[in-house]
Amino acid sequence: MIGCAVAYELTRRGAEVVLLDMRQPGAGATQASAGMLTPYLEGESSALLQLGVAGLARYAPFVEALREASGRVVEYRREGSVEVALSDGEAEALQSRAAYYAAIGVPHRFVAGDEAHALDPSLPSAVRAALLLPDHGYVGVHSLAGALLAVAEREGARVAVGARVERVTTEGAVTRVHTDREVLDADVVVVASGSWLGHATIDGVTSEAVRPVRGQLLQLSMSHAPTSRVLWGRACYLVPWTDGTLLVGATVEEAGFDEHATAAGVSGLLSAAFSLLPAARTARFDSVRVGLRPATKDHLPIIGRSSVAPGVVYATGHYRSGILLAPLTAEIVAGLVLDGDASPHLEHTRPGRFGL
Ligand SMILES: Cc1cc2nc3c(=O)[nH]c(=O)nc-3n(C[C@H](O)[C@H](O)[C@H](O)COP(=O)(O)OP(=O)(O)OC[C@H]3O[C@@H](n4cnc5c(N)ncnc54)[C@H](O)[C@@H]3O)c2cc1C
Repeated sequence: MIGCAVAYELTRRGAEVVLLDMRQPGAGATQASAGMLTPYLEGESSALLQLGVAGLARYAPFVEALREASGRVVEYRREGSVEVALSDGEAEALQSRAAYYAAIGVPHRFVAGDEAHALDPSLPSAVRAALLLPDHGYVGVHSLAGALLAVAEREGARVAVGARVERVTTEGAVTRVHTDREVLDADVVVVASGSWLGHATIDGVTSEAVRPVRGQLLQLSMSHAPTSRVLWGRACYLVPWTDGTLLVGATVEEAGFDEHATAAGVSGLLSAAFSLLPAARTARFDSVRVGLRPATKDHLPIIGRSSVAPGVVYATGHYRSGILLAPLTAEIVAGLVLDGDASPHLEHTRPGRFGL
């Protein structure tokens, strides 16, 4: 997603771009993503919350411009998320979160008892409380990545599918990319290699700043969408598309670069889904997807100019928020590469904090 969004933004702004991917672009963590745009649920630090909120603010104009430029359908809805409490303990925790949102000025609505069920009739009758965050939403990730790539290619980007980058080196004023099939010279190289950052050397250095965190996600389909909102429970979340597709995510596992699904992962997600949305029991099981989230130690992405290699800009380490942060990341990177603009967000994302 990050490479596609950056290529899109740079080509639109007139840059000559080559997008190198050892797979098909979009076939890394991106293909497994749920596409939720839920910064208030993911903002575990104030820096991440700030980035997420700024990322969400970019989405509507970004998708609108992309739909117009590509002529494609990109599913994008902002009808909110509902966090669900199924026990008294969870209801108490939800009430404290509501107090926190009130304190920081986040629009929300907390309801308990019968009112919770009335808020969203798709919820189980056992629901004790629910917290609606109306600003949240989701985007269809495959259609988004496909449209970004199509526009980038139409605007002149060359997409080299299956090209593995082995090394990036600084050669005087140019930065040289050595792939398994060609050598390319560039003014700037944007490293958007997700979890595989450490698989290519940059000026002789192999970095361990990003590690893979496996996520399994299920795709089910129902005859119609049970709700229009993202549902968020203790052990899973549900993303309902307009066509009845229901995404159930996600496991969070330290499994190295293993991209296999597991029986325990699938069964855990299914039972969590049934307790959040009983109607999901009769859904068709379509597929299980597995992706490696690119995680940094502080869970903040690495975006910005390298403090070591002058022609290298990083855009990786987006962990659980790469879809949410893609438009913002593309804007920051294009501003940096083409105008030398230093966005205030770079303060939190400096590559230098990991010696990069
Ligand atoms: C189950 C799951 C659910 C998620 N849900 C959400 C969500 O709801 N909302 C959200 O915002 N985020 C979500 N995420 C996180 C999000 O998917 C990631 O943050 C995002 O996809 C990262 O995008 P990326 O482009 O950096 O990485 P990737 O999509 O992994 O892309 C990296 C690309 O780099 C290529 N590459 C790597 N090394 C090389 C090399 N040496 N040479 C050539 N090519 C190379 C790979 O082939 C790959 O295509 C989820 C992730 C998972 C796994």
